[in-house]
Amino acid sequence: MRMQTLESMGINAETINQYDQRIPRYTSYPTAPFWTEEFDASRWSDHLRQNAGNEDPVSLYVHIPFCGKHCLFCACNVIITPRRDVAEDYLGYLEKEISLVSEQADVKGPVVQLHFGGGTPNYLDLDQMERVVRALEASYPFAKDAERSIEIDPRVANPEYIAGLHHRLGFNRISFGTQDFNEDTQSAIGRGQTREVTFENVTAARKNGYGSVNIDLIYGLPRQDEDTWRETLDTVAELRPDRIALYNFAFLPSKLAHQRALSEEVLPAPSLKLQMFIEAHNRLTHEGYVFIGMDHYALATDSLAKALEDGSLRRNFMGYNTLRGTGMLSFGTSAISDYRGAFAQNDKKLSVYKRMITEGHIPVERGLPLSPEDLERRHLIEELMCGGVIRLDALSSRAREIIREERGELTSLEEGGLLTVSDDEIRVTGKGRVFLRNIAVIFDEWIRKARTKHLFSRAV
Ligand code: SF4
Repeated sequence: MRMQTLESMGINAETINQYDQRIPRYTSYPTAPFWTEEFDASRWSDHLRQNAGNEDPVSLYVHIPFCGKHCLFCACNVIITPRRDVAEDYLGYLEKEISLVSEQADVKGPVVQLHFGGGTPNYLDLDQMERVVRALEASYPFAKDAERSIEIDPRVANPEYIAGLHHRLGFNRISFGTQDFNEDTQSAIGRGQTREVTFENVTAARKNGYGSVNIDLIYGLPRQDEDTWRETLDTVAELRPDRIALYNFAFLPSKLAHQRALSEEVLPAPSLKLQMFIEAHNRLTHEGYVFIGMDHYALATDSLAKALEDGSLRRNFMGYNTLRGTGMLSFGTSAISDYRGAFAQNDKKLSVYKRMITEGHIPVERGLPLSPEDLERRHLIEELMCGGVIRLDALSSRAREIIREERGELTSLEEGGLLTVSDDEIRVTGKGRVFLRNIAVIFDEWIRKARTKHLFSRAV
């Protein structure tokens, strides 16, 4: 399963440039820009009621949008506030939302996964975290061995907090925002996270028995160069987290006003950025990390690498995970649910979110019910992005027809060495795993119709 260097798979800077297009990341299909406000709170409630009593496994997501200060590279849905009482107030609304959704969906299937994202989930203290977790446990039937994962900003965490999350609340997977270990880069992105604080918290997670520790890295940040990046990768090798998410920095000052404080002059040139990706990929695979696909790496011993091996890998709004076939119900501002054939996203504005809950509505801003055609295409995309293989005999007649319709595109990707096509299956090659988005996009009917490729980030 271990991947070779990019070079040994015939990938160099030229190949990457060849496939570098603006393509969605396919955490959903159809992708979010095509969802509509016509699918509003009342239609979402109808959908939940029609599916009430569902006994399939389910995942829950909670969005805590608060951060004390805005990191200059950030592209998340955040609310910047130093006022702790705002979070306390938010919890009351979260509790109401949790119970509203529970009344309407009447979930009977076990909760197999809980994830807290943000923002900064650890903006909440342990008592506040406990309030949310207990509200969820009171309304949904948790499996005893459910995965409980959380994103942590190490700058506002400490070993006692990490221990408390595990021993009091059962969190067993943890992810630390890191981005880079270089002090100048940390200062340029307005984050100032020290190497010591990251090591201290990762060590605490290990000591307290977390099953998997992830760190996020970003290449393309201000003041990164070949030498600083190599040092950061040396430090990553020393820290040896179970999983690594490696992201390409998206500089979008026209959309994200806070990024205008970043000077373009200190950003690495596109050619250097590309080199940094190649260096990181080669170094991580050399260190024993398996490339999962789409920014994610994991040690061969980690459940994500095992899921890739045994075909149980799944992709959703949290990236790759190991729980195939589960729906997701989500809570908090901007949170996205993916449940029984429909997507719904909560309103991003705190004031609207609160008002809708006060009026007794689930605070949905937009969504989409999936058509039978969407479901077929979604299945094909998920098979490619996760297991890397589509077996034709397991497909519906419509799905086989879609593949016939896209034969020209498939042949062209086969000629490029990204996949192999036979009478039985379509299989992504090692090279193709680096360009999964370029493969998935051929089954994306919405993007073809709308020609909105400019909306999405680059493929690598
Ligand atoms: S802590 Fe994370 S979510 Fe908050 S501003 Fe920084 S990068 Fe964004």
